[in-house]
Amino acid sequence: MNMTKLLEVKNLKMYYSTMKGDVKAVDDISFSLEKGESLGLAGESGCGKSSVALALMKLYPSNAKILSGEVLLDGVNLLEMSDEVIRQNIRWKRISIVPQAAMNAFNPVFTIKEQIVEAILTHEDVTEKEAGERTVELLRRVGIDPSRASNYPHEFSGGMKQRAMMAMALSCNPDLIIADEPTTALDVIVQAQVLKEIKTLQEELGLSMILISHDLSVVAETCEKTMIMYAGNIVEDASTLEIFRAALHPYSIGLLGAFPKLTGERKRLESIKGNPPNLLNPPPGCRFHPRCPNAKDLCEVIPPFIQETHKGHRVACHMVNKHPEYR
Ligand code: SF4
Repeated sequence: MNMTKLLEVKNLKMYYSTMKGDVKAVDDISFSLEKGESLGLAGESGCGKSSVALALMKLYPSNAKILSGEVLLDGVNLLEMSDEVIRQNIRWKRISIVPQAAMNAFNPVFTIKEQIVEAILTHEDVTEKEAGERTVELLRRVGIDPSRASNYPHEFSGGMKQRAMMAMALSCNPDLIIADEPTTALDVIVQAQVLKEIKTLQEELGLSMILISHDLSVVAETCEKTMIMYAGNIVEDASTLEIFRAALHPYSIGLLGAFPKLTGERKRLESIKGNPPNLLNPPPGCRFHPRCPNAKDLCEVIPPFIQETHKGHRVACHMVNKHPEYR
């Protein structure tokens, strides 16, 4: 397939200033996303996944600082744009986000339809009637009966609110949707339905998507590519199939070890020993070394750079062998 690059993140470094020092939340990460591609961003809580999403939208809090890097959307660096230009031309129109706990993001005193119409009218030069018609169509697309459009948020179940938030995110026809833990607050049955709908919409509309989740099963069901983060770094990325079949980084292997398999020999689930580091003062060398079963002396001193071991598969680990053609 002939793919075109939509997003390219280069050497992005974002820290948060705190009274105790800088929290190194995103520390020199690079990745790209093709048009129509879905990428799952996975890792334990606090590894920097949501900070990446905020940086892509320039929605970071006031104590965040970008130390270096570029976020190129169709080759144009978003980090060099003013907040006003981002608000007018990028957010919702090119990139939209379904934030964590999106279900609670609706204003309780307006109907669902009023709130989606308002989002459309803020960003597009259309009449209220056109915005209303588009809202009803979007709600239908995400599986909500249009007769419920004039309901208030409290009249919707959790799954319906989450679907309505997807409709809101789609309302200005963006190229990229970032869904941050979109189904975490839902029960497993509703979660499966919502994930299926997200996947269908992404494919039907040709959207690019970054799905952020601590839950590898959510990523496996929804995304073509998977990127694993640990302590502010990307430690591995590859096709989802390859990550699940043959992960190479010890952290990814540890995460997968805690993931139940439906086929093959029955095995006790293993969790990764220890806890992620405090990003105020992460360990030197490889940040995973205090928890890594394969760590060597070198790992305590020299941070590994992420590099391709073979086509389309990148790993940040001193001990991983490269494919002969990449040596
Ligand atoms: Fe483990 Fe060393 Fe690889 Fe880090 S670089 S993951 S400590 S083997």
